[in-house]
Parts: sequence; structure tokens; C-alpha cells
Amino acid sequence: MTFPFDYPAAQHVRRHSPRGYADYSSFRPWLRDEFSFRCVYCLLREQWARHGSFGADHFLAVAHHPQKATDYDNLLYACVTCNAVKSDRLLPNPVRVLLRNSVQVAADGHIHTDDAAAAHLIELLGLDSDHSNEFRMLWIGIIALAAKHDPALHRRLMGFPADLPNLARLRPPGGNKRPLGIEESHHAKKLRGTLPDFY
Ligand SMILES: [Zn+2]
Repeated sequence: MTFPFDYPAAQHVRRHSPRGYADYSSFRPWLRDEFSFRCVYCLLREQWARHGSFGADHFLAVAHHPQKATDYDNLLYACVTCNAVKSDRLLPNPVRVLLRNSVQVAADGHIHTDDAAAAHLIELLGLDSDHSNEFRMLWIGIIALAAKHDPALHRRLMGFPADLPNLARLRPPGGNKRPLGIEESHHAKKLRGTLPDFY
């Protein structure tokens, strides 16, 4: 069974590259798909949170790198909590350091790592705080209960959201430098019948 707090097994390779949007919020559907509808830092999923709890995070903060404000490759998908705690700081890149072989969450919600950069990131974002551990323990418990007693609820909590963005319909003003990624989007997989029930 999929564990709700498994970090990605491998470093993420970007599938999409929309260009030319003047406002970074226009990148949102691309980022949702790119990062699988969950926060790259804490793994909070859209399915567990209220609408509006996620947004674009600038890996290199706009305060220090204004030219990166609408550079897609500088944008990550993050929950508002992680985004606010991060603020304008430069952190280790979560896509590179929060990986399954070096960062594990235990059944009691505690997060462990033997990697120095990951430990630094976890420390800076408070991902090992009592509050964070409590939050994970709560969801681990809820999801285990749903798995046992309510398969439909379990699918909702651990599956993809219903409103998968149809990226094929979007027309970024500056084009898309990685057009092949559209075929790998979750919406395209759903149309082909190859989207898994759980992730
Ligand atoms: Zn988060």
C-alpha cells in the first residue's frame, strides 16, 4: 500500500516548460501537474486540504532574483505553510534532497534523514517540529482507517484530484519548450486509462 509520506524515489525531472506568462499564478495548473498535486516540502496533498492552500513557491526568492519571478524552472508547488516559513531564504533544493532513500517518515510521524542537506532543509522548515510530526501522525492514522473501512474514502485521500488540469488546452504566451510532457500529464494518462488509483 502507498504510504502517505513517501518522498519521491528519484530526483524530479521537469516535464513541462510553459513560457511567457506575465503573472506567476498562471503557471499553477502546470505546477499542480508537475509536482503531483502536493507540496514538494511536506507532502501535504490537495486532497487533504482546503482549496487555496497551495501556490507557486519561488525557489530563488523574487526579493533577491526579480528576473526569476516568472521563470517556470524556478517555481515549485508548495503549501502556504511551507511557503510562508521558507519566506525569502535560500534553502537546499527539495527536489534534489528530499528523496526516499535518504529521508523517511516513521509510522509515528517522525521524519528521519542521514543526509546533511536534507537535515538542514528539514530544520529550516520545521518539518521535524512537534506540530509537523503530530500532523503526519494524524493523517497516517486517518488513511490507515480509511484503507481498512472505507475504500472509496481511501481512494479520495490517496488518489489524484478529480479536477486534473487539461494542459493540452492551455496556450502559454511564449510557448512550451517541453511539449512532449503534455502526453505524460495526469490528465492525458487518465484519458488513456493509465492513471493509477493511488499514488
Ligand atoms: Zn508544505
